[in-house]
Parts: sequence; C-alpha cells; structure tokens
Amino acid sequence: MIDAHCHLEQKDYNKDRDEVIARCREKMDAVVTSCAYPDDFDLTISLKKQYPDFIYVCVGIHPEYIKELKQEQKDELIEKIKGNKDLISGIGEVGLDYYWIKEEDFRERQKQMFKEFIGLAKELNKPIVIHSRDAHEDTLDILEEAKAERVLLHLWGANQLVGRIIENRWNVSFGPILLRSKKHKKICRDMPLDKIMLETDSPWFGENGQRNEPTSVEKVIERIAKIKKLEANEVDIATTQNAKKFFGIGG
Ligand SMILES: [Zn+2]
Repeated sequence: MIDAHCHLEQKDYNKDRDEVIARCREKMDAVVTSCAYPDDFDLTISLKKQYPDFIYVCVGIHPEYIKELKQEQKDELIEKIKGNKDLISGIGEVGLDYYWIKEEDFRERQKQMFKEFIGLAKELNKPIVIHSRDAHEDTLDILEEAKAERVLLHLWGANQLVGRIIENRWNVSFGPILLRSKKHKKICRDMPLDKIMLETDSPWFGENGQRNEPTSVEKVIERIAKIKKLEANEVDIATTQNAKKFFGIGG
C-alpha cells in the first residue's frame, strides 16, 4: 500500500509525527507527502532525510495561496527544488483552484504559476501532481497544451472529463471521498486499473472531521475493489505498482 498524496508536514502531526509514520511503516510500502507551501519545505525535506526509503516527497505551491504568495517566495522555492532534486520524487501539488479564488487577475496568476511548475517538472524530469477545483477544463487545457505526460490528478471530481484523462494516459488517485461520493465512484469505475493510485490527503478527510492518517488507504482499497468488482488484493498490488512506477519508488 502506498499513499500517493498526503501532507505529513502539517501542524496536526507536530505532537506525534514519528508515531504516525511508525504506524504507516507497519503495513505500508511508502508514503508520498506533498509540501504545498514554501514555508513547509525544510520540514518536508527533513522527513525525507529521516526516512529515506519510506517517505517520498513532492514539492509545489497550492494554487489557493496565490493571493498571499510573494514572487520571491516562489522563486526561492524553485531554487530549493532544483538544489534538492535528488531528494524530490515529484512536483506538486500545483494547479488551479477557482473555488477559493474568484478574481480573474488572481486566476490568471494561478495559470502562470501552474505553467511554470509544469515547465520545472519537465526540466527536472519529474512527474507532476495536480490539484484542480472548479477549474477542470482549464486544468486539462493547460496540461494538454504543455504536452505533460507523467500526470497524477489528485482528488479529481469531474466525471464528464474522464475520457480526456484516459486518452492522455494520465493517472487519478482516489481517497476516502470515494466512500461517499457517487461522482468519484463513476470516475473510479471508468479509470483503467493501471492508472489508479491511492491517496488520503491527510490530515484532511478523516472520519467525522477527525485527523486522517495515511493508513486509511486500506478502506479506499476495499471500496475500489467493490466498485471495479475485483479482489482487494489485486487493487492493493496494482495501485502499489502504479505509484512505484510513477514516483520511481524502489528502483
Ligand atoms: Zn493535498
């Protein structure tokens, strides 16, 4: 089992981060944690150094921070990514968020930053992990235009656009939202098994608003198995293999 998208640097884990990771190590193959804001870079990289063959790292800037973000912060983060590229397995999460950002000029800046990170992923030969909320068409347009190849769409929610994702041979990761969303169920049904990964987006999406942990991918496996009429074991093996291949884990 691999959690392909979570945020272990969040302050929710400050008191017991090592215990959480120890619980993950008991049953999981790896955890991919995503630094989504410049200030979180150092802690994220320190986790990678502490657990080099278990924690894998993505770095990017979440589009919802576009208003508060300063140009120098972004440029500095890009330099840090370049300087630590051997410790980083992917760029992300990056993308577009029109749910939180309504103003046209800020949306335009999101697009510019998104394109910049796609370029960086290409330059460093890394896969890219995408956040898209209420901006699905624009997200796919930009990715297609940039001819992005190694793409993981995290928490993708637009079932009407799945055909385009399949055509582009991109990946989708499913989290606990799959346990309660019909839309995501349809997407899961339609996506080929070799393009599916597991995620939790921990610490978010826990049961009853509680803190989530990467080990909850277990429940997602069972749900995917049910939707795709497969054995849980088959889903476990396939999603683990897909994440290993995508992030270059263990090889
Ligand atoms: Zn996330």
